[in-house]
Amino acid sequence: MADLPLTGGCLCGGVRFVVSEAPVSAGYCHCTRCQRRTGSAAAVSARLAPGSLRIESGEEIVRSYVPDDGFAKDYCSACGSALWSRNPDDPDWISVRLGAFDDDPGLRPSYRQFVAYAACWEPIPGDGLPRFSERRPPDA
Ligand SMILES: [Zn+2]
Ligand SMILES: [Zn+2]
Repeated sequence: MADLPLTGGCLCGGVRFVVSEAPVSAGYCHCTRCQRRTGSAAAVSARLAPGSLRIESGEEIVRSYVPDDGFAKDYCSACGSALWSRNPDDPDWISVRLGAFDDDPGLRPSYRQFVAYAACWEPIPGDGLPRFSERRPPDA
């Protein structure tokens, strides 16, 4: 277990946040949207316990990209760092990008989703994690 609260922030340090409870789960997303968003083969995020995220500083420079369908993607407008995604229909559903944490967030990625769309130029690691062609089913 990691020490709580967890802390994190963006690359420029303008945005700082605190997570008061252990995240619920974490996983890789190989969807094309995450590839575009991050410029890399996959994104890795941790779903938070409801109500456990607090922005400590820089809330005014957090911007959001809200696609017509799907989750809003919040980022730092000063440095472009990805921070977290939010379910527009459920304010308690927030997933923080694992790389935004300062230290060990305690949990490890436990699945890979949207592997049907994985980048052709980077093989998916043989790490034994369950793979889902599309979104991870809620009961998986
Ligand atoms: Zn920043
Ligand atoms: Zn994705």
